[in-house]
Amino acid sequence: MLQASGSVAPEIGLLAESVERFCLGEHRLGGDELAIDLPELSRCINLLQLKFSEMAATFAQTDEYDRECAYSPIHWLRTNCHLTAGAAGDRLAVGERLRNVPQSAEAMAGGEIGFSHLALIAREAEASAETGTNSEFDETRLLDKARDYTVGRFRNFCHHQRHAADPGRYASLEVDAVEGRTLGLQAGEGGMLWIRGVLDPEGGNALRTALEPLARRKGQGDHRNRGRRLADALVELAQHGQRSHLQVTTSLETLLQRAGAPAADVEFSLPISGAAMRRLACDCNVTRILLGADSQVIDVGRSKRTVSAPMRRALDARDRVCRWPGCDRPARWSAAHHVVHWSQGGPTDLDNLVLLCPRHHWMVHEGGWQIVRTEDHGFTTVPPQLDWYAARARGPDHRAA
Ligand SMILES: [Zn+2]
Ligand SMILES: [Zn+2]
Repeated sequence: MLQASGSVAPEIGLLAESVERFCLGEHRLGGDELAIDLPELSRCINLLQLKFSEMAATFAQTDEYDRECAYSPIHWLRTNCHLTAGAAGDRLAVGERLRNVPQSAEAMAGGEIGFSHLALIAREAEASAETGTNSEFDETRLLDKARDYTVGRFRNFCHHQRHAADPGRYASLEVDAVEGRTLGLQAGEGGMLWIRGVLDPEGGNALRTALEPLARRKGQGDHRNRGRRLADALVELAQHGQRSHLQVTTSLETLLQRAGAPAADVEFSLPISGAAMRRLACDCNVTRILLGADSQVIDVGRSKRTVSAPMRRALDARDRVCRWPGCDRPARWSAAHHVVHWSQGGPTDLDNLVLLCPRHHWMVHEGGWQIVRTEDHGFTTVPPQLDWYAARARGPDHRAA
């Protein structure tokens, strides 16, 4: 029987034998053999987690983490044991609540439930203690469900239980979480923007639901890492709602990318390049203010060069999605790209327009790619013909963009 502390020692002794067999001894490779060995190895790992939890809870009682300048035991565990905050919290909860969940620990030692189940039960014991009803905490019902449910389903069950036990408190915790929302935007060197924040579960879920589909890889040539893809997705999301408010002030020289031309001014950020300006100017939702050589305003707002609403509807109906080969970003997320830019005499009519999503629009204007008309009224792409850096230095114009 497992006790509150020091009690897993005999189990750990047995564990050493198993671990030795798995790691050093007769390693078995058949599928049927692995199907027996893997759950047993998992049970061994769980017992080690239990031992870790007991030791971590004991450690948290000391002031060693404080002496080592950590903010909390969880902070110390994160840094020194390379755990996430959630994993460190789980281990502390198990270690500190072991006396409240002896049957569950026993069930885990016997391989009936996993460590994650045990951690959820321990967290429930913790929550119960916080509401001052610890004496009533009964692990039996939870343990019965843990035996039957996968970890994900059991987590949901625990939330339902907590809600059923005290709906008012559950709702007030949600309110606290919303009150804890914060987002910091800090301008850095070179116009970079640092973002730091935290969201409550509902807000976080809403953000991830919006970002994750936009952050998927786009085809085999997409080598962006996850962080870059999420950042691109965030910008895409912001542009989706805000593009109509974007105001750009530029000169004709900049738009034509002539040597010596100044950059273009935008609200809320540093000046942007002529290449980026041309990409933005492709889209009808940009309000542009064109300045002549003497800084006189020569063109304000939308003109016949921009895509009218009926033409945009016709374009959406024709292309339906981004026309980059293999891309399926829907029309409403895509920009109307002028195959021959209007500043170079390209007409704003359907034959010269193509829908491109933000990523692929960027690749055409700034990434050195070209999208060109084929004889059968389709489109094809031409990769940068020089190396990447040379292609970027060359700019996006050429014939097509
Ligand atoms: Zn364009
Ligand atoms: Zn695309």
